Amino acid sequence: MSDATVPESRAYRHVQCDNETVVSGQPFELVSNPMSSITQTWCSDCNGYFPISDYQWSDTGENLSDYFARHTQSATDMQRFLCSKKFMVILWIIGFLLSALGATVLFADQALWVKIVFIPLTGLIGVLIASAVFISGFANPITRKVCGVEDTRTLT
Ligand SMILES: [Zn+2]
Repeated sequence: MSDATVPESRAYRHVQCDNETVVSGQPFELVSNPMSSITQTWCSDCNGYFPISDYQWSDTGENLSDYFARHTQSATDMQRFLCSKKFMVILWIIGFLLSALGATVLFADQALWVKIVFIPLTGLIGVLIASAVFISGFANPITRKVCGVEDTRTLT
């Protein structure tokens, strides 16, 4: 069951232009997540991306980079690595190679065009599976453990 008190959106202020941007949906999940390893976020007024240290939450006035640092204080280097984009790409490569290898064996007796089409395609399925493993097996549980909440949108 999801927590009924998860907010729908939150506003942050871009210090340079003093304008507020309201985030909701997936961008809100991303920017509220201190383990998301994002370095930039969107300003609706400037119509561009700027470093997270250029923003503060409108409700608390806290700088976003301070917020990220504060909620990840207890994270170990290993936990940070397992939530990083670098680790996600490593899992993608492993997923692609394992699936493509499996397909190579599976389609060994098939016509060449079958191999050319289905081996990379199966590799891509492996990448999708690897993404799911990264999110459900690593990023989400580690983030919950480090931040101590089910949903990072409830953090303040
Ligand atoms: Zn701006």
